[in-house]
Amino acid sequence: MTARGLRRAASRLLERPAVPGRVSRACSTFRTFAEVLRLPQRQMTKLAFPLRELQRHLTPDSRLGLHVKTFDPSLEAISQAESVFAAGGRHRIEYVSSAVRLDHAPDLPHPEVCFIGRSNVGKSSLIKALFSLAPDVDVRVSKKPGHTKKMNFFKVGKYFTLVDMPGYGYRAPEDFVDMVETYLKERRNLMRTFLLVDSVVGIQKTDNIAIGMCEEFALPYVMVLTKIDKSSKGHLLKQVLQIQKFVESETQGCFPQLFPVSSVTYSGIHLLRCFIANITGNLKTDGL
Ligand code: GDP
Repeated sequence: MTARGLRRAASRLLERPAVPGRVSRACSTFRTFAEVLRLPQRQMTKLAFPLRELQRHLTPDSRLGLHVKTFDPSLEAISQAESVFAAGGRHRIEYVSSAVRLDHAPDLPHPEVCFIGRSNVGKSSLIKALFSLAPDVDVRVSKKPGHTKKMNFFKVGKYFTLVDMPGYGYRAPEDFVDMVETYLKERRNLMRTFLLVDSVVGIQKTDNIAIGMCEEFALPYVMVLTKIDKSSKGHLLKQVLQIQKFVESETQGCFPQLFPVSSVTYSGIHLLRCFIANITGNLKTDGL
């Protein structure tokens, strides 16, 4: 990747105004992948593979620098993964319980994934979007930061458990570090940690605490970039390239490919569902 090419492409895009309102209204119903597949090719790619869409705006020689193919499932695999997230019949997706200490956590036999991030990063909204095919699941989205103060456990049928961790940073619970550190270090069936970063502001000081924990405990983790509908393409591309560079140079355990998402437009949500289904061993077609 040539730095000059990247900078040129990013600065060109920075000049274009973002139109989040228009995108939000146009895409706000694409909860199922079948709906996404009915869209014209360009729009479909934008919703299903947001990184590929960003990649189009790089010069040809710098395109290879963006990791878009480490996890590159087929459209069939993404459709198949949806059944894991769609409640119905005997497949129930439900809130199980909350805990402030690991020894209060439910003893569930399935693979587990957890979601962690700063207060207000968009964690509850993302979990709600992932679970939008199970409308009975109660994921509370707060208007005030610092809502999630406990670890909330959700059972996704017989497939996996999703854990919503307390938000760190502003108004984080006092025992946050103890609670989260013990969980990350000792939870035996934890398969993957999803670390959320706000794509508008990038990695913040407090994010480094969570990154540091994942690195220290040698956990496999993934960076999810939230709220991508809020920025212009130029700003988003700049953030994605910066964060990717950080992942490459400063981390050991972080998955090289970033997952940009919007819980408003549903961009990237279907791909993330597919990734989760894959790493919890619930997808027959391997996208990795
Ligand atoms: P949490 O504290 O991390 O659980 O964050 P929330 O999910 O409660 O979101 C914090 C604020 O960001 C709320 O006002 C959400 O409506 C907003 N938000 C969350 N995700 C998105 C997104 O993808 N796009 C936009 N535009 N706003 C979002």
